[in-house]
Amino acid sequence: MEQVTKTQGRLDSQIFAWFVGLLVLIQVTTVWLAYTASRESVEQQIRNRLGAAQQFFYSEFDSRSQYLTGFVTTVAKDWGFRQAVGRADELTINSMILNSSLRLGADVGFFIDADGNLRGSTLNLDGGALRDIERVIEQAELSDSAGEYQDFFIRIENKVYQFVLASMEAPIHIGWIAMGFSVDNELASQFHNATGLQTTFIGVQNSMSRIYGSTLTAAQIESYGVRRTLNRYLFSRQEVDGAANDSAWLGSDQSMLRMIVKKVFPDRSPMTTADNSGSKAMGDSTVSRYLVDQQVEGMQLSIPIDTGSDLELSVLLHQSITEQLNGFNRWWNDLLLLFSLTLLLGAMAVILIARRITSPLRKLVDIMRQITSGNYQQEFELTQKNEIGALAQEFQSMQGAVAMREKEIRYRAEHDVLTGMQNRDKFLANCQHRIDQLYSVSSSQSFAILIFDVDCFGNVNEALGHAAGDQLLADIGRRIGETFEHDLLARISADQFAVALVYDVNSQMLDAVHRLQERFNEPFTQSGIDIVLGVTAGIACYPEHGREAIQLLRSADVAMTSAKKRRLDHIVYSPMLDCDSVKRLALMSELPTAIDSDQLVLFYQPTLTLSADGRHRVSKVECLVRWQHPSYGFIPPDEFISLAEQTGIITRLTYWVIKTAMQQFQLWRDNGIELDFAVNISAVDLFKGNLQALIPALLAHFDIAPNKMVLEVTEGEVMQDPEKAIAILTELSAAGIRISIDDYGTGYSSLAYLKQLPVDELKIDKSFVMNVTENSDDEIIVRSTIDMARTMGMAIVAEGVESAAALDFLNQRGCHYAQGFYISKPLPAAELEQWLLQTDYLVGEGRRAA
Ligand code: C2E
Ligand code: CA
Ligand code: CA
Repeated sequence: MEQVTKTQGRLDSQIFAWFVGLLVLIQVTTVWLAYTASRESVEQQIRNRLGAAQQFFYSEFDSRSQYLTGFVTTVAKDWGFRQAVGRADELTINSMILNSSLRLGADVGFFIDADGNLRGSTLNLDGGALRDIERVIEQAELSDSAGEYQDFFIRIENKVYQFVLASMEAPIHIGWIAMGFSVDNELASQFHNATGLQTTFIGVQNSMSRIYGSTLTAAQIESYGVRRTLNRYLFSRQEVDGAANDSAWLGSDQSMLRMIVKKVFPDRSPMTTADNSGSKAMGDSTVSRYLVDQQVEGMQLSIPIDTGSDLELSVLLHQSITEQLNGFNRWWNDLLLLFSLTLLLGAMAVILIARRITSPLRKLVDIMRQITSGNYQQEFELTQKNEIGALAQEFQSMQGAVAMREKEIRYRAEHDVLTGMQNRDKFLANCQHRIDQLYSVSSSQSFAILIFDVDCFGNVNEALGHAAGDQLLADIGRRIGETFEHDLLARISADQFAVALVYDVNSQMLDAVHRLQERFNEPFTQSGIDIVLGVTAGIACYPEHGREAIQLLRSADVAMTSAKKRRLDHIVYSPMLDCDSVKRLALMSELPTAIDSDQLVLFYQPTLTLSADGRHRVSKVECLVRWQHPSYGFIPPDEFISLAEQTGIITRLTYWVIKTAMQQFQLWRDNGIELDFAVNISAVDLFKGNLQALIPALLAHFDIAPNKMVLEVTEGEVMQDPEKAIAILTELSAAGIRISIDDYGTGYSSLAYLKQLPVDELKIDKSFVMNVTENSDDEIIVRSTIDMARTMGMAIVAEGVESAAALDFLNQRGCHYAQGFYISKPLPAAELEQWLLQTDYLVGEGRRAA
C-alpha cells in the first residue's frame, strides 16, 4: 500500500513537473528566439543605417564641396573682385570676402594672391594655418585641375574647416579665393538628424587625436572611450587594414569597450564612385566598421581630403545596440509579465488537472483497498464521463460480482446444500459463540449439543437409490428444522444432524429428544413408499462433557454411537462411553484396585421359567457386574468389560464375579432361597482362564451342585476358536455346568457348530425380543429360533422382555425362560431379596425338567 501511495504522489508531481518544465522550456526558447531576432533586427537596422550613413556622409561632403565650388568659382569670376585685386584694394577685397561668405553662409573665407600673400580673410589665420594653406596651394598648382578649384580641410586654431579653393584669373592667375564650412558639433548634429547615428569628427595629428565635433556629450565620449579606442585603432590601423581576417581586437578600457573591426571596407570607398561621376571632392577613403563590445555598432570613415598637413580626419558613426534594444524594454516587460502570468496560470491549471486525474484515482485506490479487505459496500462516484468514470463503473460491477461470488462461496462453505442447514464447521463456530455469550454473563441457562442419527438410513439409501435418499434427507432436515425452529441446527454428516439447545432444566433436554422422536413416528413418504425412521440421540452438556464446542460435539457423537450400540434411543454422554478417552484408559489402571477394594458390585436379574398355565416361577438370576466408582459414580459394564478383556484383567474380574456369585448363592441358600445363577464369561476367560479347572474347584469349595450354574458365552466368543471352545465347553459341560449361548441372533452362528457344542440353552438377543409383538420380522426370528431350539433339544431363553404382551407371546410360542425389565431390572442382592418377597411369581426350583 505504501508503494501505491508513493506512486500516487509521484504521478501528481510528475504531471506538474512535466507541464511546468515544458512551459518554462517553451518560454525560454521563445524569449531566446525573440531576443536573438530583436537583437539581430537591431543590429541589422544599425548596419543598414551605417550603410546608408556611409553613402549619405560622402555625398553630403561631396555636395557641400560642390556647393562651395560653384559659389567660389562664381566669386572668382566676379569682375569687381578682380578689379579690387588688380588695384590691391584690400578693404574692398575684405568686404567682398565677408559679403560672399555671408551670402554663402560659409564659416570662413579668405583670399591669397599669386605671390602667396594673404590679402583678405574673415578669420585671423595663424602661421600654422597659413603654412598648411600654402602646401595645399602648391598641391593645387601641381594637380591636373590646377587653376580651377580644389577642396581641402584646414585646421585653424582648434577648428577644422572644409574649404574649396578656386583660382582667380584676370586672365592670368592672380590669386586664390577660398571659402569653407566648419566641421563642428552643428555639422555632427546635422548628420545625426539625417542618419540617426551618433556622429563624431576626429582628427589625428602627430599621434594626438582631437574631437572637432560630436553629438555625444563629453561624458558619453569618456564612457564610450571613443577617443582612446580611436587612438588604439589608429595605432594598429595599418595592421588591421592589411589583415586577412576581418575582425581584430582593438583593445578595451575600463568601460569594457571592445572594438571589433567587423569589416574592413575595400580601399576604394563610395567616394571613388563619386570620383567616377566626375566629382573628386572626397578622393580615396578607407572605411572601417566596428562592432563595439556587442553593445555599440559603428564605423569609422576616413575623410581622405588634403589637409595640407599630417592631420587625418575621420568620422565615427555608431549607435548603441543596448540603447536600441532598450526601446524594446517595455515590450520585454510585457512579455515577462505575460510569461509569468502564463506560468502561474499554467501551474495552477496543472495542479487542478493533476488533482482532477489523481484524486478520483486515489479514491478508487482507497475503495479498492476497502474491497480487498472484504468491505463490499463501497459507494462509487460515477459522475465522471471519462476513462476514470468507466474504470469506476467497472470496479463497481466487479465489487458486485465479487460480493455475490463471495456470498455464494461463504454460503457453500457454511451450509449443507441438501438441507440448507449449517454445516459442521459453521455450526461449531456458532456453538462456540453461543457458549462464550452464555457463560461470559454467568447465565443460569445450560447449553447442550444433541446429535441425531437416523437409524438404518443406509438401508433406505441402498433400497431407493441415492437421489431418493437425498430427497428423504431433505425431508428429514425439514422435519428437524420444524421441531427445533428456534435453535441452532446443522447437518454434520450423511445421516446425522446436530442441535444446539439452550435450556433451563434438564428435563427440557430430554423433552427435545422425545419431541423429535415423536415427529419421526409419522412416516416419511418417498417414491410412493411410507418409511418409518427412528432416530438415536447422543447428548453432551456444557461444561461437564466439554468446554469447547468441538469437544461437546465429539462427546455427543460418542454418546450417540453408544446409544446405537445399546439400541437405546438416547444417551447422555459419560466419560465411560468414550473408548478413546484418556480417562477411560486411566480407569483401567484402577480396575485391579476396584476388584480388590469392593468397588465392584454384582446385580442380579431374575429369570422366569415360563409355564403354560401362566404360573411362572423365578428360577434363576443372571449376575451382572457394576462398578461403583468413588468419583465417577456408576459405570455400566459395557464401558469397561471390553477394555478389561483387552488388558487381560478380565480373568481376575471373572474370577471375582464367579466367586461373588457363589458366595451369594451360598448366602441365599442358607436363607432358604434356592436360585440358579448365570455368569457371563468372555472369550479371554474361555481360552486363557483355565475355567475348566477353576469353576469345578470353586463349586466344590462352596458346595454347590454344578448344574446350579450357567455359563453365558456369546456366539462370537465361541467362533474365535471353535475347536478349542468346543473342547473347553465340553469339559465344563461334562463337569455338570450348563452352557448358554448369549445374544443369539446377533452373530453369524453356524448351526453346524452349535450342534457340536454342548449347549444347554440359547438366549435370544434382546434386540429381537424387545419389539417382538410390534415387529413382524422380530416375531418371525423369535418364533423360528424357538422352534429350532426345541427341535435341537435346547432350552430357549428370551432376554429383553419389556412388556406383558411380549411375555405372553413368548409363553404361547413355547419359550422356556424369560428375562427382562418387564419382570425386573438387574438388582443388588438386598433389593432382589425384597423383590422376591413381594413378587407375584413363584420363587425357586422352577427349572425345566431335563
Ligand atoms: P448381557 O449378558 O446380554 O446382559 C443383559 C443385559 O441386558 C444387561 O445389561 C441387562 O441390564 C440388560 N437387560 C435386561 N433386561 C432388559 C430389558 O428388558 N430391556 C433392555 N433393554 N435391556 C435389558 P448390563 O447389565 O448393562 O450388561 C451389559 C453387558 O455386559 C452384558 O450383556 C454382558 O455382555 C456384559 N456383562 C455384564 N456383567 C458381566 C460380567 O460379569 N462378566 C462379563 N464377561 N460380561 C458381563
Ligand atoms: Ca448375559
Ligand atoms: Ca444377552
